[in-house]
Amino acid sequence: MGLSYRRFVIKLGTNLLTGGSNQLDQKIMSNLVSQIARLQKQGAEIVVVTSGAITAGRHKLGITKTIRGIPFKQVLASVGQSRLMHTYEEMFKKYSINVAQALLTKADIADRAGYLNARNTLLALMELGVICIVNENDVVSIDEIEEHKFGDNDNLSAMVANLIDADMLMMLTDISGLYTADPRRDPKAKLIPVVTKIDATIKKLGRNTADAKGTGGMITKIEAAKLARDSGVHVVIADGREPDIIIKLANGETIGTHFTSAGNHVESRRRWMLSGLCTRGKLIIDAGAVLALKKHKRSLLAAGIKSAEGKFGRGDIVEIYDIEGTQIGCGIVNYSAADIANIKGAQSGKIKDLLNTDYGPEVVHRNNLALLEREATIANR
Ligand code: GLU
Repeated sequence: MGLSYRRFVIKLGTNLLTGGSNQLDQKIMSNLVSQIARLQKQGAEIVVVTSGAITAGRHKLGITKTIRGIPFKQVLASVGQSRLMHTYEEMFKKYSINVAQALLTKADIADRAGYLNARNTLLALMELGVICIVNENDVVSIDEIEEHKFGDNDNLSAMVANLIDADMLMMLTDISGLYTADPRRDPKAKLIPVVTKIDATIKKLGRNTADAKGTGGMITKIEAAKLARDSGVHVVIADGREPDIIIKLANGETIGTHFTSAGNHVESRRRWMLSGLCTRGKLIIDAGAVLALKKHKRSLLAAGIKSAEGKFGRGDIVEIYDIEGTQIGCGIVNYSAADIANIKGAQSGKIKDLLNTDYGPEVVHRNNLALLEREATIANR
């Protein structure tokens, strides 16, 4: 059976991973891992966003009493993160799948070079078939583990979904989705299967459903869902303990609450890049490079660049022109304007000598390129 979506971010919450206990639940985790492995074998590209470091740390140190305060939680997260990763590593090993760890902060992703670095790394890991396991870098960032913001791996997962152009974000937790009232208190509460617009009414419903372990609960999930769906990602909030939930969702079954995407992600990224609103400069490229980009869907290398105009940095968006002055498209650059001035026309192998640094052979990676169609060029002029 063909998958309904191809690229996924799967967010696994603490309540799910611990089964409500005070430690990682091996059975629940290995079941989730086996589903992720199966999904990958079906051709899906997957990034996992996981919580559970603090709980794992608390268990590892044998601490039962509650010690309050952010610094201590950071200590626990730091202790627990390695156990969490070790658990995933061992579990994925059974399926001959390699895992990678990425500890991110929201500030890293908001920064243009950080965004580019994280995007390039995550896309490359997916290409290699490595499952990247992401968690917030709790030792550095504090809003994640502050009492009132606890549960913000939800937001991080939405940012990651946006970063990698995911088709679907699965937020797996220990409740079945968004209800018309809090199902823990109101027996008449009904599950809402599909949400096509996140408005004040939906947010109010979210605020009514608190999360058992005092984490952000439904409202942070809804805020995160809004962020993701606005950039073209389908979002599902569902009970991760339901049998084969990951496989079923990937195959398009309606389980939990599905927040339909507000458009196609790749298209919205393309439109954003081509809108010209954020461009910082221009690259002029030779005919060989034009052919490589348009016909062979290759990346833009230094050898094909004739000149760079404007003052831009690594991670900025630039417009790309041929030598006749026709715009070919736009892209996010791996090198600053000053660096490009030094490496233009050079073979990729020379970059290290010329710059003393090397961000790779691509000046613009094909993943970060948006090409204009011929029609669009004429229409836009
Ligand atoms: N990053 C925290 C942890 O791994 C969890 C935060 C959350 O649940 O959102 O323990």
